[in-house]
Amino acid sequence: MNILVINCGSSSLKYQLINMKNEEVLAKGLVERIGIEGSRIKHDTIGKERYIIEEPMKDHKKALELVLNAIVDEEHGAISSLDEIKAVGHRVVHGGEEFSDSVIINDLVMKALEKNVELAPLHNPPNITGINACKELMPNTPMVAVFDTAFHQTIPAENYIYALPYEYYEKYRIRRYGFHGTSHKYVSQRAAIILDKNIDDLKIVTCHLGNGSSVTAVDGGKSIDTSMGFTPLEGLAMGTRCGDIDPAIIPFIMEKEKMSLEEVNRVLNKESGVLGISGVSSDFRDLDDADEQGNERATLALQVFANDVKKYIASYAALMGGIDVLVFTAGVGENSPSMRERICEGLEFLGISLDKELNNVRGEETIVSDDSSKVKVMVIPTNEELVIARDTNELVNKR
Ligand code: AMP
Repeated sequence: MNILVINCGSSSLKYQLINMKNEEVLAKGLVERIGIEGSRIKHDTIGKERYIIEEPMKDHKKALELVLNAIVDEEHGAISSLDEIKAVGHRVVHGGEEFSDSVIINDLVMKALEKNVELAPLHNPPNITGINACKELMPNTPMVAVFDTAFHQTIPAENYIYALPYEYYEKYRIRRYGFHGTSHKYVSQRAAIILDKNIDDLKIVTCHLGNGSSVTAVDGGKSIDTSMGFTPLEGLAMGTRCGDIDPAIIPFIMEKEKMSLEEVNRVLNKESGVLGISGVSSDFRDLDDADEQGNERATLALQVFANDVKKYIASYAALMGGIDVLVFTAGVGENSPSMRERICEGLEFLGISLDKELNNVRGEETIVSDDSSKVKVMVIPTNEELVIARDTNELVNKR
């Protein structure tokens, strides 16, 4: 039977239809500009030509309706009836402290999701909208929520409490939550399988490096610390997010630049990171090109990013009392040999030694460390949709 995976953003929607018998992706697509002029769907069914739908989509319900039509379309579709969809798995960004695993969606779960809107005001509302639209269109199909934060709920208090007055944790639930959990879980489990080791015996550092980036310490299969925090702004310098900075800088620039809260939030989230440093781009391919052409600020941005990752790897090795496996994943982690090299350079003292030739790969599941390396360095393409589909299938089968 098939599982439909849905990932709703504020004006976009990504989907995949996966046959759980062989985990084959039957169809997938992207809806852009929902609620904005120029809405369109790019729909790909395996073995068929791309199908583009351009028509007004005033909201997520309309978009989903067109997606479901495309999936069962006689000419462009993958299945003949919606009855062939056993369940829908939804990516939900913030599960707060309530959810340490995926759950079947019911009224209580919806209430908890609403409660978590204050923790993820940009992300949870579109996720909720997507679930509600799906419920209306497929009222008898079970739905599952899979949370970005769930994998990190094993982080112990000493790694999730901020050094702020404790009552802010009690009153407002201000603590480290961590994100990209589905990805960190998937690649750490894959690493153990590929190495034919029991994950309980491994100390793994997973580096999810994309437009948004985070590093996680996975000890015995459990997340024990991660670089993103209360929001996805903390941790590494990212495409456009500042990552760790001295918090005193915020009131300082607000005063100097006469900025409102909203403006400073925009600067920290959208105009900082490697884009802010380089003034060139948030895209690492553009930065590589600029670096090659001698653009010093692009080089600086790349090195700041590499050093940030390096510092997290070493600090997580310290927290776990060692490191057996280092995994790179996501856009940059999977596709940039030069960034992996920058990051690993100087980490020989931890037993990390890259093989330059093996490291010259993009988007392949492979080991890139040399024979002398105590730590296995691996590239593992992430597959968040598959994890969502597996969790959904498992929960629905258990009912
Ligand atoms: P993600 O957020 O995981 O989709 O990653 C997107 C980012 O991956 C883009 O912004 C690019 O900077 C980066 N990326 C993709 N391909 C490459 C590549 N071949 N070399 C360097 N960076 C890449």
